[in-house]
Amino acid sequence: TTHLVDEARAGEVTLSGVSRIYGKNYAVRDLDLHVNAGEFISLLGPSGCGKTTTLRMIGGFEYPDTGSISIAAKHVEALPPHKRPVNTVFQAYALFPHLSVAQNVAYGLRYQKTPKNEVRERVAEALQMVRMGTFAERMPAQLSGGQQQRIALARALVNRPAVLLLDEPMSALDRKLREEMQIELKLLQQQLGTTFVFVTHDQEEAMTMSDRIAVMNSGRLEQIGPPSAVYDDPSSAYVAGFIGQQNFFTGTLSGGPGAWTVEVPGGTLVSSREPAGSPVAGAPAEVAVRPEHVRISETPSGDRNEIRSTLMSVSQLGSALQIVTITPDGLKIMARSPRSVDVPTTPGADVYCSWPADAVHVFPTPTAPTES
Ligand code: ATP
Repeated sequence: TTHLVDEARAGEVTLSGVSRIYGKNYAVRDLDLHVNAGEFISLLGPSGCGKTTTLRMIGGFEYPDTGSISIAAKHVEALPPHKRPVNTVFQAYALFPHLSVAQNVAYGLRYQKTPKNEVRERVAEALQMVRMGTFAERMPAQLSGGQQQRIALARALVNRPAVLLLDEPMSALDRKLREEMQIELKLLQQQLGTTFVFVTHDQEEAMTMSDRIAVMNSGRLEQIGPPSAVYDDPSSAYVAGFIGQQNFFTGTLSGGPGAWTVEVPGGTLVSSREPAGSPVAGAPAEVAVRPEHVRISETPSGDRNEIRSTLMSVSQLGSALQIVTITPDGLKIMARSPRSVDVPTTPGADVYCSWPADAVHVFPTPTAPTES
């Protein structure tokens, strides 16, 4: 049974209290992260938030200053990369230009002195996985960017790692190809059941592929959850603003539990949700409302959560219309509605932007930064 337990946990990754410090700066700070076996998890955040450093510590290219890292329930923080059951696909997936596709994919296995027959079988299998079976004899220069990327993936999969680490592997591809590869990669991951830890600064990419998204901010984990949870229930204004489009308002909190309101220029916003953190009446707060919850109308209802505005522009976003308005206070409010819905479209028209109370997310503005 020990063997079975190990098999089931082969793809688990756990970071506990992990920090990496350069000089006086924390690249990663006190990070706790548990990745389940077979999970597709994305580390998401802006440049410099510590995602690559986190990935490199899991891969063994970087060592934590504090904390522990386990893979398959075994401590690995002191092991070099080749002793860990992981493989990494880097951003620059440089293939050896003088070796054929098959030789590129076989390189690691040859290095480990794997028997020739087995190398041949496993290379064929890995190329099949990335749908490049017929390209074995090509040279890298004869491949498109997307094809080279798949070969880099095959090269990482040929060792059958329990965990695959991917550092912005699609950043060199154009948008259309990237979107195709996102779907392919997700399907491949599901077929293989391999744990994928994927670094990206692209929130759409993370939303499309991940079982869970770990949003990072200044070396810390800000929020972790399924795409729908980080989108619908952001735990901070930072997450609310980083994922998807958002209208932000700044104002002052009033009311109390069950009926919080925020006075903002042009109106009173009321929320049926509990504010994040510890709300105090009279404190400054940020409010976030998604464009898809904003309704545009020519006649006022007189209710709360309504702000008078001037229609500025309407643009087609495929299946939706994006409407931009400006309030008399100079605040931009964006709305998005299905093309089937009849909305005012005349630039310069007086309109009223409104939304339901459960679309109003309130984030009390943190006062002083808390240092631990
Ligand atoms: P990017 O998307 O730009 O790669 P990232 O989120 O992956 O960003 P990291 O590369 O992990 O961020 O960097 C986190 C922080 O640590 C940054 O402030 C960076 O400048 C710093 N850093 C990373 N590597 C080193 C290093 N070798 N020496 C000093 N500082 C470093």
